[in-house]
Amino acid sequence: MTGYTIPPPPQASLAIAGSDQRFPVRRVYCVGRNYSRHVMEMNEGADPRDPPFFFQKPADAVVGDGATVPYPPLTDDLQHEVELVACIGTGGADIPVDRALDHVAFYGVGIDLTRRDLQFRAREKSWPWEMGKSFDHSAPIGPLTPADTAGHGVRGISLSVNGAVRQQSDTAHMTWSVAEIVAELSRQYRLEPGDIILTGTPEGVGALVPGDVVEARADGLAPLTLTIGDRT
Ligand code: MN
Repeated sequence: MTGYTIPPPPQASLAIAGSDQRFPVRRVYCVGRNYSRHVMEMNEGADPRDPPFFFQKPADAVVGDGATVPYPPLTDDLQHEVELVACIGTGGADIPVDRALDHVAFYGVGIDLTRRDLQFRAREKSWPWEMGKSFDHSAPIGPLTPADTAGHGVRGISLSVNGAVRQQSDTAHMTWSVAEIVAELSRQYRLEPGDIILTGTPEGVGALVPGDVVEARADGLAPLTLTIGDRT
C-alpha cells in the first residue's frame, strides 16, 4: 500500500449542538445576493430581482463557536454578514424545488466574513471574488441543529457586535428560499453530503475591529459567538 508523501490535511468539520458527533464539511457554497435591502446597500442602482449567484470558500475556512478569528491580512475593512446555513445530508443533482428540503439535514447560523475593500477592488477590475471572500477563518459557523428539530422554517436572524444589534431580519425576506437555492445550486454542481450553503445576508453589514465580540443568532438554532483577534 502506498502512503501520502506528507500528512493528509485534517477533515474540516462543524459541531452539532448537544452531540459529540461532528458534521464533516466537503464544500462551502455561498449565495451572493439574496435579500433585496442588502443588494441595494451594496449596489447603487441594482435590480434586487437579479438572480442570486454562487461562490465558494475553502472547507478549512470554517471555524466554530467560541473561536477567536485573527483580523485577516491585506484589509482595512473586515465586515460581518450573518447568514442562515443549510447543510446537505443527502446528495443529488438537478434536485426539484419540491424535494430540495429533503436534502437539508442540519441548519446553523454563520457569518460570511468579508474583506470588503478587496471584494470591491475585485469587482471594479472584474477579478474573481476569492481575495475578498475566501480567506482563512472566513466562515465562522455555530453548532448545527438537525432539521428534524429546528424545522425548515427558521425565520428570525440577527447579529450583534459588543451587544449592539447590527443586523436583524427574517428569512422570509430572502429573494430565493432555501429550497430554491438548493435546487438551483444542484443544477450547477452535484451536491454531496457534507456540502454547506451560506444562504445570503440581510442589510446592516458593517465593519469589525480587533477586540470586537460578535454574536450571531437565528431562531431555534444554537448561537455563534466569536471574538476578532489582533491583526495577523
Ligand atoms: Mn454573504
